[in-house]
Amino acid sequence: MYLRLERVRDRIAHHKLDALLISSLVNVRYLFGFTGSNAMALITPDTSFFITDRRYTQQSRQQVQNAEIIIAKKDLISELKKITAIRPRVKLGFESMHLKVKDFMQLKKTLPQIKLMASERIIEKIASVKEAEEIENVKKAGAVCGKVLKEVFPLINPGVCELEISAELSYRAKKHGSETDPFEPIVASGKRSALPHGISSAKKLEHGDLVIIDFGAVVNGYAADITRTVVLGELSLKQKEIVDVVFNALEVSESAAKPGLTGKQLDQVARDYINKRGYGDFFQHSLGHGLGLDVHELPRIGEQSSDPIEAGNVITLEPGIYDPEMGGVRIEDDFVITTDGSENLTPFPREVVSV
Ligand code: ZN
Ligand code: ZN
Repeated sequence: MYLRLERVRDRIAHHKLDALLISSLVNVRYLFGFTGSNAMALITPDTSFFITDRRYTQQSRQQVQNAEIIIAKKDLISELKKITAIRPRVKLGFESMHLKVKDFMQLKKTLPQIKLMASERIIEKIASVKEAEEIENVKKAGAVCGKVLKEVFPLINPGVCELEISAELSYRAKKHGSETDPFEPIVASGKRSALPHGISSAKKLEHGDLVIIDFGAVVNGYAADITRTVVLGELSLKQKEIVDVVFNALEVSESAAKPGLTGKQLDQVARDYINKRGYGDFFQHSLGHGLGLDVHELPRIGEQSSDPIEAGNVITLEPGIYDPEMGGVRIEDDFVITTDGSENLTPFPREVVSV
């Protein structure tokens, strides 16, 4: 973690800041190891401060490394006043995507003489290139997902409702070692499977339904995120064709994934293929996203993304086709980008299982 902090200091110098205030809890965890629900950190060129409240006195002593721990008497922002590195006219960077407006206003009021400088994604960019241990954790979380899928497929039957399957996914993931759900599992069947991010409902599964199952697991804080599609009964000819397009779109993008592309260029590989097969209008979301301590990290893999793809990135690839009349098909796996390609971290059968 010390190395991570050094990289941050490098960026602080690059952006000509005197200090950086970290308010994203995910970023606080990435840099200091703290897993609680209320904390901020201040990083200066030569030291770091970790601020939390009294509930976390014990926990912060056990978890926090490489920082002076401050237990706030009132709120976290007020403690900044006492830190001598925060002198008048200091350029203090803050995370513009994470700092609450309320905290921003209080910062201005509490420290009227400092210069507040909006910064974006400093930590996120550093965190997007994973260390070996982080990749191993995603792989372990992926292995949990593989076991859960095997157990849950036989439970998918007509008459069972989406929420029951969603509960089984959560329950079995935890039984196999997941710490929490990285997001609420999505089980969307029939016409509802055409909602790319439809949440599970009380709808009962019916014969002929396509069912999209998108869920994950978390190991040592790191998430895996996987999607499989199941059909109740046999695939119709039309459904078979859509499955074929999604499969191939995943395969072509998997073979194309390597350092040197941007997120947009990788997205384009799948999009071009799906367009060529005539289903371009039915693929309305990004091809994938970075993955780690958070379910959506850098690099972004979508039409608008200029993010560079680099060795060490962990990403998902998840092409999908959604026909409002017939339902949807999506397949999602997690990959680590290597020096010349990618390695699948969730190498389980992709076939649309017929139950
Ligand atoms: Zn997913
Ligand atoms: Zn995903």
